[in-house]
Amino acid sequence: MTERILIVEDEPKIADLLQKYLHNASYQTHWLNSGIGVSAWVREQNPDLILLDLMLPGKDGLEICKEIRQFSHVPIIMLTARVEEIDRLLGLELGADDYICKPFSPREVVARIKATLRRVQAFCVPPQSPPPAPNTLLELDRDRLVVRSGSHETSLTLVEFELLAALQQHPGRIFGRDQLMSRVYTDNRIVSDRTIDSHIKKLRKKLAEILPNQDLIHSVYSVGYKFESDNKNFVTVIQ
Ligand code: CA
Repeated sequence: MTERILIVEDEPKIADLLQKYLHNASYQTHWLNSGIGVSAWVREQNPDLILLDLMLPGKDGLEICKEIRQFSHVPIIMLTARVEEIDRLLGLELGADDYICKPFSPREVVARIKATLRRVQAFCVPPQSPPPAPNTLLELDRDRLVVRSGSHETSLTLVEFELLAALQQHPGRIFGRDQLMSRVYTDNRIVSDRTIDSHIKKLRKKLAEILPNQDLIHSVYSVGYKFESDNKNFVTVIQ
């Protein structure tokens, strides 16, 4: 991203020179040649850094700096005509980030801008990490017979819980109805295929309540069911 530098300077020669050097350093620039309307421009355009001359027609740099500090932390580098002025400005605690005395070397200005932006960015920008994919964790709580994703949870019957527990253990693996029955009903009771189907149907409905955009349990025609998420980051945990 190209950073945008606002130059507030009433001397066209200095402004031109600064713009030339800043463009060479791959910055975008905008030039305002008086103190009038600077705060409004900053508020609207939100530049990345401001080079602000102290002596300006209309409104001086001191006042502009104070105005901007009331609504923005944008880095401000003040340009002054006299070295002695810098001490006075520091004493005023304006909130400017740096001070440069005229006449300056444009290279020096570019170096100071780079340093200031680096400092500000290191301070402000949180480490870049992609936002976590939503609802990637499905937690199965055996004690409470609930299944949870984020802040959503739903209660399951024991049969539904055992079905889900069995299926999620091997994502992508197809389970026949018989296999599922023997997992769920350990007492060898005789249940029909339709019983499993009806439990699975209810389980799917409950999962859809907490994970509306995920289709987790898939029926495999004439065989049975499998548990699979199209989200690579999907994880299930049994507690
Ligand atoms: Ca000036």
